[in-house]
Parts: sequence; C-alpha cells; structure tokens
Amino acid sequence: MPASYAATDDTSRGRQFSEPRPTHRSEYQRDRDRIIHCAAFRRLEYKTQVFVNHEGDLYRTRLTHSIEVAQIGRTVARALGLNEDLTEAISLAHDLGHTPFGHAGQDALNECMRDYGGFEHNLQSLRVVDVLEERYAEFPGLNLTFETREGILKHCAIAKARELGDIGRRFLDKTQPSLEAQLANVADEIAYNNHDVDDGLRAELITIEQLREVRLFAEQYDAVVRRYPDLPERRAIHETVRRMIGRVVTDLIEETGRRIAEAGARTIEDVRRQRVSLVAYSEPVKEQTLELKRFLRANLYAHERVRGVTDSSVGILKELFHAFLRDPALMPGQYQAKIREAGRDAATRARIVADYVAGMTDRYAQREHAKLTGELPVG
Ligand code: MG
Repeated sequence: MPASYAATDDTSRGRQFSEPRPTHRSEYQRDRDRIIHCAAFRRLEYKTQVFVNHEGDLYRTRLTHSIEVAQIGRTVARALGLNEDLTEAISLAHDLGHTPFGHAGQDALNECMRDYGGFEHNLQSLRVVDVLEERYAEFPGLNLTFETREGILKHCAIAKARELGDIGRRFLDKTQPSLEAQLANVADEIAYNNHDVDDGLRAELITIEQLREVRLFAEQYDAVVRRYPDLPERRAIHETVRRMIGRVVTDLIEETGRRIAEAGARTIEDVRRQRVSLVAYSEPVKEQTLELKRFLRANLYAHERVRGVTDSSVGILKELFHAFLRDPALMPGQYQAKIREAGRDAATRARIVADYVAGMTDRYAQREHAKLTGELPVG
C-alpha cells in the first residue's frame, strides 16, 4: 500500500500534452518505459561515469550507474511506501543529458556555450525528454508527467527557473519536489559514492590504507576483516561496499520516516510546502558521507590518471563544437536542417551544436574528431 504522502496518478499534475490514461500501466510506469526506449538512454552505455569506456569492461558507465541509482531508489521507496515507478523513472532519466567524458566533458561544453546561455547537464536531461527525443507522432519529446520532469530538474539557477515556467516554479518559491524526486537525488549520491570506491580500488588509484581514514569505509572494513580474517582482498572490498550501502540506506529510511512524521506531511502537497528536504540522513551519517565525498574528490576525481584521460577529451569536445559551429555541413542532416531554421540567431545555432555534441557517446566523439583531423576517412 502506498503511503498517503506518495505521488499517485490521481494527484499527478499531468503531462504537457494531454493523453488518455494508460490501460495496463500506471502513469509513472509509462514514463519509465518511455525512458528505457529512448535513444539517449541507450547512449548511456558508452558514456563515461568516472572511467573512460575503453579503460576496462568492469567499470561503471552512465548506464550501469543509472541502474544502480534506480535499484537503491526503489528499495528506499518501497520501505517508505513511496511510488516506486516514479522513483525508478527519475533515477533512470537523471543523467540522460550528460555529455561524453564525464564532468570534464560538461565543463568543456559549458565553456564553449559561455556566450550562449551555458551548458548544464541537469537542464540538458530535461531538454532531452522534453524536446530532443523525437519518437511520438502526437508530441515532441517523451511528454513525461510533471512529477518525473520535476525530479529530473534537480537544481536550477534562478534566471533559468524563470524561463522554465511551472517546472521552475519551486526554485523561485523555495519549495520542495515530491519525496520520490528527493529520494532519486540522494540515491544518485549513494550509488556514486560507493561504486566509485569500488572502481577506484579496482583501478588502484586509491588504496585501502588511504580509505581507512574515512570513517564510513573504516567501520565496515574493520568489521569485515575481524569477522573474516582470511577473506581474499577483492571479496573483502565487495563485502565492505555492500555494508556501506546498507549502512547509509538504513539510516536514510529511518531518518526520512522520522522527518515525515515530525513534519506531519500527509499528502504530496504537504511535502512540497516544506522548506527543507524530508529525505535525509541523520546528522552523523551526513557528516560521514561528506567525509567520503571529500576523500573521493581529493584522491580519485583529481587523480592525475583520471584527469589525464578526461583532460585530453576536453580538447576533443571543444574542437568538435567549434568546427560544427563554423561549418554546420559537418553535422548530420537533421542538425543542418535545424541550423537552417535558426537562421542567424547565434544562440540558437550554438544550442543546436551543443545538443549534438552532448548527445555523443565517448567513442562516437572520438571517431568524429578523428574524421575532423583526417586520422579517419570521412563517411
Ligand atoms: Mg548520476
């Protein structure tokens, strides 16, 4: 039974283009299904999370990351009586707007777009589902429900929020999105904090000794080694990471349940009226999570081997962007048509190029770049 504060089909603010209700599915199931069937979702398989695709087959990609987010999100949603379908839909869609080459890619494209309104992957995810996917006869984009779109737009600058209408409203009013949206946001963080520990150790960019300075890791690792002193290291790491996830997920469920009760939130509108997020860790776990994040930023994301690969990719993206902007004929026909439609409007032209570049997978961008520099034959 869903809790009274969960999102439901009946309380949904609906779709931009009205459609008959689905016959055998809920509205949010339909959203989830549309996301899974879209091209941007399939491209996540070849987009960098932290490790560039060709570095190895075992590292997380944006696709496996998104699936892990959905798994954690659904577990918490079920435990709290929230809408699992909505949580899953938001989780699977949250990174659809990501550029190739991870955060370095997003920074590069943002720099290219500096004079044209900038580039932000979160806004781009919304743009993918609202406009860029062209699959349905009756409407542009995927025509998702307000609640899924609200969840995709995690954060937003005030100036942008004004342009976005109803979906940007909460950033102006300083109100909250649904609990499912709040949850997908935290599930994202739980997924990457933990899988980056695993991937970082696998790549030998960080060590267990270093990680033992991080309380969240040390507590679980020490317990594992104490109980299973002969466990091979790789297995001890997996056992530790699974316990770390268990630790924060349990805390999240308990603390969120407590906060919902304390706030007296009985409906989704009660949730939206809150000044602060109700989906939250307890103070001690929040502190420990921040400590882990700081560790990963200093030791993994800033590691010269990660930086080296992603920095060289930055050059690729910038060169592609400027080449396409100068000569749109280098882009596929559908983008050339959009450029013709844009006429002399420089910002719109740049946005079309950014859409094309952002949509690329890592390897597609590398191939296009090789064609541009003559290392690969065109065609
Ligand atoms: Mg993510």
